[in-house]
Amino acid sequence: MRTPFMCANWKMHKTVEEAVEMAKEFKELVADVDDVEAGICAPAIDLYPLNEVLADTNVKLGSENMYYKESGAYTGELSPAMIKSVGCEYAIIGHSERREIFGEDDQLLNLKLKTAFANDIKPILCIGEKLAEREAGEHFARVKFQLEADLSGIEAEDVKDMVLAYEPLWAIGTGESATPEQAEEIIKFIRETVAKMYDEETAEAIRIQYGGSVKPWNVEEIMAQPNIDGALVGSASLEAESFSKIVKFK
Ligand code: PGA
Repeated sequence: MRTPFMCANWKMHKTVEEAVEMAKEFKELVADVDDVEAGICAPAIDLYPLNEVLADTNVKLGSENMYYKESGAYTGELSPAMIKSVGCEYAIIGHSERREIFGEDDQLLNLKLKTAFANDIKPILCIGEKLAEREAGEHFARVKFQLEADLSGIEAEDVKDMVLAYEPLWAIGTGESATPEQAEEIIKFIRETVAKMYDEETAEAIRIQYGGSVKPWNVEEIMAQPNIDGALVGSASLEAESFSKIVKFK
């Protein structure tokens, strides 16, 4: 009952020209897909032209980030109204690069989530452990901590509609994906944690993606796992043909 969701995360790639070219090619390649949701989260500068290309298609648009304030003196930031005005339905919140490089902590991410919900933006909240945490067997505790901190004070009604992306840091951009069994084990745990924090209905409704070196050649076995509802895709989403193969994994 959960529709699979394949979402691109372009990170700091693609000029406007490159973004438009890719989107034009990609929308044709996935035009016939109706049982998988496809989305592109793109750099802010690309969103306006992408919205023109992707309006009236089955490809959703998202921002890679969003601030927690509605407006004001926050040089360089993006408000929820701004990203909505260029057609964004989604926003990635708390990608590990935002957490690690830009120092975003769970308290800030909790505020960002609340602002997203208040403005009808569906967050894609990223959680996941570092290599040292996995090696020390702390990965379950790590994602539980992130869920409890990031979702603090957020209602079940909102959680049902959001997306979680489990992205182990050691698998991002390394070409070394978690095994499907490793991903399933912890994503099942994430769903059980949501059930304990909220209820079974919420845990059954929320979509949980896997992210970290998802490629056309490993997506099928990842998607064969019962708790994995899609993927957040970095490098393999930059090219139309490769990302369309991921969307058409079946
Ligand atoms: P990757 O990135 O697919 O290049 O590993 C995934 C991500 O960071 O979302």
